[in-house]
Amino acid sequence: MSRHLLLLLALLAVSTEATFPATSAIQERADRFLALANAGYKGLVKVNSEAQWMAVTDVKPEHDAAAATAGKAAAAFNGNPALINEAKELLTHKSELNELTLRQLDQLLRNAAEGPMTNPELVAARVEAETKQASTLNGFEFKLDGKPITVNEIDNKLDHSTDLEERRRVWEASKESGPALKDGLVKLRDLRNGVAKELGHKDYFALQVAGYGMSTDEMVKLHDGFLQELRPLYLQLHTWTKHKLAEKFKQPVPKRIPAHWINNRWSQEWSGLVEAANIDDRFKDRTPEWIIKTAEQFYTGLGFKPLPASFWTKSDLYPLKPGDPRKKNTHASCWHVDLETDIRSLMSVESNSRWFYTSHHELGHGYYDMSYTRPEVPALLRTGANPSFHEGMGELISLASSQVPYLQSRGVLPPGFKADATAFLLNDALSQSLPFMFWGSGTMTHWEADVYAKNLPPEQWNARWWQYVRDLQGVEPPTARGEEFCDPATKTHINDTPAYYYSYAIATVLKFQLHDHIARNLLKQPPQACNYADNKEVGVFLKKIMEKGATEDWRKVLKEATGEDLSTRAMMEYFKPLMAWLEKENKGRQIGWD
Ligand SMILES: [Zn+2]
Repeated sequence: MSRHLLLLLALLAVSTEATFPATSAIQERADRFLALANAGYKGLVKVNSEAQWMAVTDVKPEHDAAAATAGKAAAAFNGNPALINEAKELLTHKSELNELTLRQLDQLLRNAAEGPMTNPELVAARVEAETKQASTLNGFEFKLDGKPITVNEIDNKLDHSTDLEERRRVWEASKESGPALKDGLVKLRDLRNGVAKELGHKDYFALQVAGYGMSTDEMVKLHDGFLQELRPLYLQLHTWTKHKLAEKFKQPVPKRIPAHWINNRWSQEWSGLVEAANIDDRFKDRTPEWIIKTAEQFYTGLGFKPLPASFWTKSDLYPLKPGDPRKKNTHASCWHVDLETDIRSLMSVESNSRWFYTSHHELGHGYYDMSYTRPEVPALLRTGANPSFHEGMGELISLASSQVPYLQSRGVLPPGFKADATAFLLNDALSQSLPFMFWGSGTMTHWEADVYAKNLPPEQWNARWWQYVRDLQGVEPPTARGEEFCDPATKTHINDTPAYYYSYAIATVLKFQLHDHIARNLLKQPPQACNYADNKEVGVFLKKIMEKGATEDWRKVLKEATGEDLSTRAMMEYFKPLMAWLEKENKGRQIGWD
């Protein structure tokens, strides 16, 4: 087509648009409907969040009961048949509605699909099964040699024990919850697929990936692409690690790494192998208050507003004092309670590097919330551009807060600190990035896609799980794991955040991509050693992404911000110096496990 003709068509398009009334009758009807739907949604988010907040900051049966009631009220609204039918009806007039409207209607229907009250019996059965599964999961008592052992004790032993026989027994004990959870999970698979089908999704995995505007096959393919690109680096890390561990445990070097040699119960991160990167003692003289204030200062230095005053009065930031009868959840989180200015965080900040990075991460969620809380973003779209963006932003700031020049600028490390750059990179790769990708994009994503989208028969669940662990992670169980076990069910997310884990892997890819752009193009510093502190240009860049919320397609948001599509290029380049070092270390060793 000639450029002339294109121009003519473009002009025609503009003039036809101009002859239509500014808003169609359908658009007006949608506007009225969405005004009501957004107001109801926002009100129920607030009531529900307040109740859930009480339940996690003061664990008591009566708070659990109130949270369950509030959860049901929110679900009854979100899944209301009148809302579903009107949204569906409006979506039959797509061409007469603007993009912001379409995005709200899609979001509303995805929310509804979690509990569509067009089929109340099915929804009730699911709620009951979810509650039962959660109580089996949370109440499970692990035993070692017949004696009760807590999850913290299990993790502690795997962090420190050098006795392989003991490690095997501890690892096996950690898998005991699987059989107790299997029947519930089989039932939940069918109920979750059932509710997803109610609103026209093929299965529950398809419903979850719809949040990305993708199909199950497209999502699995995306992750296979990541793994293909990262594999050469992973094989080098795997080889280095198995030699290191064989030396530690005085064993011959295995082909695949035995699962009980690794600290993490699922081999999802390989930490504790690089002593030179441990800077915990640098935080000994810092108070937890200093840690959180420093994290806030990271954002205000970039040009963001201080946290709302209510953050400091309503959050629950520190560990309980000894003897306090209150029980609180110890998992860090950040809450947008009313989808307006009530932002809170739940943490138990102590003086160490982990809480320093975690505080920066959690406030990232808070600043994301603050950025899209503006009249242009309707309540239904006050969320990340896709389900990975919130986590990716938190992870990005966590990565920024672990950069040596930043730590020096905050006085954590002395100005003349000579960092062992390779040790820091190696630790980062092992404990945050590479094994995590082969677990998240690999085992978790593939197994759940098989279970939900391909209806994998339960008598093949454990075999399929270990096939992925062996083939993709290069890890093997210490002894045979038959179908009398259900090892995937020992992972919390498999039970309570199903068909979602690929989001964490995408967040990992995303953080390196954003970081690479910031370091090279805005800071003009090397991505492996840079400092975001007080750079207003970085603040403008981040704000531009965050203030959109979910009002635009995430692919467009990413491309406009970085000029790139989602890709592992930046992650590979970040670890390029490490790759060169590993190739030298591994010279003469057999790479891989085939
Ligand atoms: Zn997070």
